[in-house]
Amino acid sequence: MIHEIVVETRSREQMVDITDQVAAVVSSAATGDGVAWVYCPHTTAGLTIQENADPDVAADILAHLRRLVPQLREFRHSEGNSDAHIKSTLVGASQAIPFSEGRLRLGTWQAIYFCEFDGPRRRRVLVHVP
Ligand code: ZN
Repeated sequence: MIHEIVVETRSREQMVDITDQVAAVVSSAATGDGVAWVYCPHTTAGLTIQENADPDVAADILAHLRRLVPQLREFRHSEGNSDAHIKSTLVGASQAIPFSEGRLRLGTWQAIYFCEFDGPRRRRVLVHVP
């Protein structure tokens, strides 16, 4: 079964910690051990797993991605958001996270982040628990 999480982003670029929402889906749907698939069905956003202890890590990631992929006039795509599409490709659209007895097996400092690159928008994240 596939579950849906809604994420309301508040700025053009933002990393939103969705660990609690994913953990809630897994704890309610999982039996035994397995791997949960978390999927972002958007072309200007993505998913990553990163440190949640120091919010400066997420800020540094967004700032560095902005330097790596600036909003350039020479992009051909007429929407003007090619930088967001490229950042989405760099970060990736899905994560696979193991669980045991309905609990995510993330590392101590790991969190699941929804990465917004062209917000603010109402976004969806799909979670499949086998
Ligand atoms: Zn576009």
